[in-house]
Amino acid sequence: MLWSWGRMERHDAIVIGAGLNGLVAAAYLAQAGLDVLVLDRGTAPGGLASEHEIAPGYRLPRFTLGSGGLPPRIVSDLGLADHGLRFIRAEGGVTCFPDGRYHASYRDGVVYRREISRFSRVDADAFTRYRRDMLRAVRRLAPLLARPAHSGARGLFGRLRAQLAHADLIAAMSPDDMRDVLRLWTLPASDFLDTYFEDDFVKAHLAAAAMIGGTLGPCTPTSAARLVLPWLAETGDASGGAPETLMPAGGTSALVQALVSAVGAAGGVLRMEAEVTDVRIRDGKVKGIVLANGEEIEARAVLSGLDVKRSFLSLFQWKDLPEGLVERVGRVRMKGVAAKVNLALDAAPVFPGLPEGCPSIGGGLRLAGTIPAMERAFADWRERMPPRDPLIDVLIPSLLDPSLAPEGGHVLSALVHYVPEELHDGPWTGERRDALGDLVMTRLAEISPGIAEHVIAIEILLPDDVENEIGLTSGDLSHGETTLDQFFANRPFPGAGGAETPLKNFYLCSPSAHPGPLVMGGAGANAASTLLAAMGKRGRA
Ligand SMILES: Cc1cc2nc3c(=O)[nH]c(=O)nc-3n(C[C@H](O)[C@H](O)[C@H](O)COP(=O)(O)OP(=O)(O)OC[C@H]3O[C@@H](n4cnc5c(N)ncnc54)[C@H](O)[C@@H]3O)c2cc1C
Repeated sequence: MLWSWGRMERHDAIVIGAGLNGLVAAAYLAQAGLDVLVLDRGTAPGGLASEHEIAPGYRLPRFTLGSGGLPPRIVSDLGLADHGLRFIRAEGGVTCFPDGRYHASYRDGVVYRREISRFSRVDADAFTRYRRDMLRAVRRLAPLLARPAHSGARGLFGRLRAQLAHADLIAAMSPDDMRDVLRLWTLPASDFLDTYFEDDFVKAHLAAAAMIGGTLGPCTPTSAARLVLPWLAETGDASGGAPETLMPAGGTSALVQALVSAVGAAGGVLRMEAEVTDVRIRDGKVKGIVLANGEEIEARAVLSGLDVKRSFLSLFQWKDLPEGLVERVGRVRMKGVAAKVNLALDAAPVFPGLPEGCPSIGGGLRLAGTIPAMERAFADWRERMPPRDPLIDVLIPSLLDPSLAPEGGHVLSALVHYVPEELHDGPWTGERRDALGDLVMTRLAEISPGIAEHVIAIEILLPDDVENEIGLTSGDLSHGETTLDQFFANRPFPGAGGAETPLKNFYLCSPSAHPGPLVMGGAGANAASTLLAAMGKRGRA
């Protein structure tokens, strides 16, 4: 329903930002019958996940790696298969170490045990126990991530009931369960892995997959909780091996297109090159937005897909915000931690040190040292040093999806980890940016000699580029650090724990809100369900 009030356009809901979360929220709301308008300042939807051509015919996501899948619940709720969405299921990837050794992940438990046995037979047995404990942790965590962390209960009795429900959950835990939970949420990943495994390379392989994307080192207290992340999408099937890697068939643009199509099919409208500069408040309630061209649009609710700092500190007049909110938002920690190097190659890279046809390569290559080396890279990042020995996550999506490059060609995405947004002694100059590119090429050449001769285009993108192009504060890929103090009921800030904000009719649908970046599209789904509940409407979210 779209009507004019005076001459002003008006909608049920406006979503700011056509990134994955904004589109997920818009699709749920439109399918629940709301009239939804999505506004984005870019020229194409997708935000961080949008693809571009690095050379004619060579497509890859500019800022994200390109792996990852929406949870099956969101795919089925929104009917995304009917909009053409398919996922490729790949093996979990290979970690390549500086001394030429490698450790590959396999979904098949028998094959994977054989792989671990190359390093340690004891560890092959321990993996069964580790896998069981990871899946147990996922079963506890997944329901908490699938709904707002804040119960939303109102009134004395409502809040009391919610607190008793939490108390029940804790009381129902056996002492062993409680010990497992505390170990996982408090220990450094290194100490946690030591309680299962003896081999340094097995431990480094598991730690490297978990540290990507976070601002903790493997020896930092609480980093053990990150070990669960690669297992989050795992259903615990009978295969008994390592978790798989999901990739949208046709690249991240296929994922974005499926969501855009779902929004459109349900009557939602997407408008690009529409930068929101202000959110309007009247009588303490959010009433609509103002675009950069001065156009005003009214809405019953506004959902922001921007990070928490951009949402409150740049879209509002600070004097209109409730007392103390500017300070609370200012205290949220956001830090850039990764750079991206994209390559177009005119031939398939060869990896002589890996078994020919190794299926795990399709799930990605991780260039990592042992745990102490990873911790040193993390320490460099904390000191804001240019990375000397970064953790590098590499995906060559065209190996499994040839549609992403011209015949014979390939695209390579490298997420370079522990890269500070600012250096301790000055800015990232052009020379330093090139030096980072050279470092990545040197590391790639160690596992794929001669790869440099096949590069026909390269781009090196720093956290600053993410901030400038996408508008994401500090280029923080998690929309806010994912440390324990900024999670669950504390995300986006203490006491919030969800999409609802202190401003009536204003919701956060970005990963700055619960469940953060841990569930792709989860923040969008949570925001939609919170708004629909507030409107007394039923939806699938
Ligand atoms: C370098 C990097 C690598 C990553 N790698 C992976 C990965 O491999 N796998 C994975 O699962 N996740 C990855 N992520 C995280 C994942 O990409 C994001 O969690 C997800 O894409 C975020 O989507 P979003 O909709 O919340 O936000 P965004 O994608 O940030 O979307 C925000 C949108 O808002 C728009 N916008 C900004 N300001 C305005 C304004 N004023 N008015 C209107 N529109 C505006 C932007 O144009 C953008 O489209 C990565 C992130 C980064 C930065």
